[in-house]
Amino acid sequence: MNGADHDTIHIVGAGPVGTLLALLLAQRGRRVHLHERRADPRVTAPERGRSINLALATRGLRALEAAGALERIRPGMVPMTGRMLHEGSGETRLLRYGQRADEVIWSISRADLNRELVRLAGEQPLIGMSFNQHCIDADAERSRLRFQGSAANAEHEVAACIIIGADGAGSAVRQAMAARDLCQASEEPLAHDYKELHLAADAAGRHRMEPHALHVWPRGEFMLIALPNHDGSFTATLFLPREGAASFARLDNVARVHEFFTAQFPDVLPLLPDLAAQFAAHPRGELATLHCWPWHAGNMLLIGDAAHAIVPFHGQGLNCGFEDCLVLDALLANQPDAAQAFARFEAERRINTDAIAQMALENYHEMRDTVRSPDFERRKQLGNALERLYPDRFIPRYSMVMFHPGISYVDALQRGIAQERLLDVLLAQGIDPDSALARQLLFEAAL
Ligand SMILES: Cc1cc2nc3c(=O)[nH]c(=O)nc-3n(C[C@H](O)[C@H](O)[C@H](O)COP(=O)(O)OP(=O)(O)OC[C@H]3O[C@@H](n4cnc5c(N)ncnc54)[C@H](O)[C@@H]3O)c2cc1C
Repeated sequence: MNGADHDTIHIVGAGPVGTLLALLLAQRGRRVHLHERRADPRVTAPERGRSINLALATRGLRALEAAGALERIRPGMVPMTGRMLHEGSGETRLLRYGQRADEVIWSISRADLNRELVRLAGEQPLIGMSFNQHCIDADAERSRLRFQGSAANAEHEVAACIIIGADGAGSAVRQAMAARDLCQASEEPLAHDYKELHLAADAAGRHRMEPHALHVWPRGEFMLIALPNHDGSFTATLFLPREGAASFARLDNVARVHEFFTAQFPDVLPLLPDLAAQFAAHPRGELATLHCWPWHAGNMLLIGDAAHAIVPFHGQGLNCGFEDCLVLDALLANQPDAAQAFARFEAERRINTDAIAQMALENYHEMRDTVRSPDFERRKQLGNALERLYPDRFIPRYSMVMFHPGISYVDALQRGIAQERLLDVLLAQGIDPDSALARQLLFEAAL
């Protein structure tokens, strides 16, 4: 049909999800071709101010391991044991993520992770890669992808029977589907944008704050976070409303930026001697939850952010995209008909990606605000006590999402609701978690 090679799977986007999926499929003997808009990351430097540090958790690590990539990625990973809260007074307090020593999350530079995955893909004879190829159309019916290449290699078509759009939140594959009424997509924008800032290492190349933590400056309506890098620096991200009293709109000159940081994050200023220059130079990013239905049309499928981009506050966007890869790889291994595998993929994944989208939005409120309240602390302590006493029945929701890939996102969401109700009752009535009544309530909550 149309001269297309029926067996090769064409993946648009050699970001982390597209590349990991290619590695998994090639491992099973499938031929894959990755088409990427950007230049080859093995030979070009990443864009400054857009590097983004990611928190990898167990779901992501499991997928990297399955693709044989974890050991290659590991040297760039920095463990984070908890959230280091920075109060307005400058006081700090560490809230551990989990109770077990191995319940940590891992900071990694997105650019380093992507480059290493592309390197691995380049070592795989079954994976072909083309860079500087901007996909401008994807036609499942004609089995064609259309690209705008570099100047000497202008628009051209590629025959492609099986197409997977892993081209991120602004997916061209999704747009091509929508233009043909094959899917409906809408964005639910967050009223807050973000800006990345680089906190340099000291003169000896050491971290100038605790390296094994995700630093958070929660300020109610907004927050600053910082994730450690291996070279002693931190990548900080300011999340701030677009409009209003404390907003990006207000920070429209150097004096106001300085005034704002002096008032809100005084302990960060010494680590940011070039704040004004960075603030002016680094781009401002927008955040949104993407709703798209369906994700597939015949032999074409959307995956990762292209299908279900979410806000970053649970640190799960990529972890979820990597989990997508595991699920799809297993389905394609058992189902030779791609269209059927794609339909099953959507049926299995959608309830879970909807659940993590909701939890990610809820977590923004927690990180920037409720984490500071004594009630949050009380609930966390009681939840931890219940987990120690009844580890098979009570696992805090954060831990289910981050450390228990065997519990699906949708189960974590539902169990989390029941757990919150239980905590309400135990706290309101002062019930000892190690009592017969607590055990009975736990049982009745079907946890
Ligand atoms: C500020 C911020 C913080 C985050 N923190 C975390 C975190 O801590 N943990 C976590 O798990 N997730 C986090 N995320 C989410 C994470 O970055 C994404 O979920 C992840 O990058 C999605 O991977 P992807 O491969 O699907 O898409 P992308 O990373 O967007 O990759 C898409 C690829 O497709 C290419 N492409 C795009 N359009 C075209 C085209 N037309 N033709 C060809 N190629 C194209 C792009 O160049 C890119 O290489 C964060 C996101 C943000 C914005």
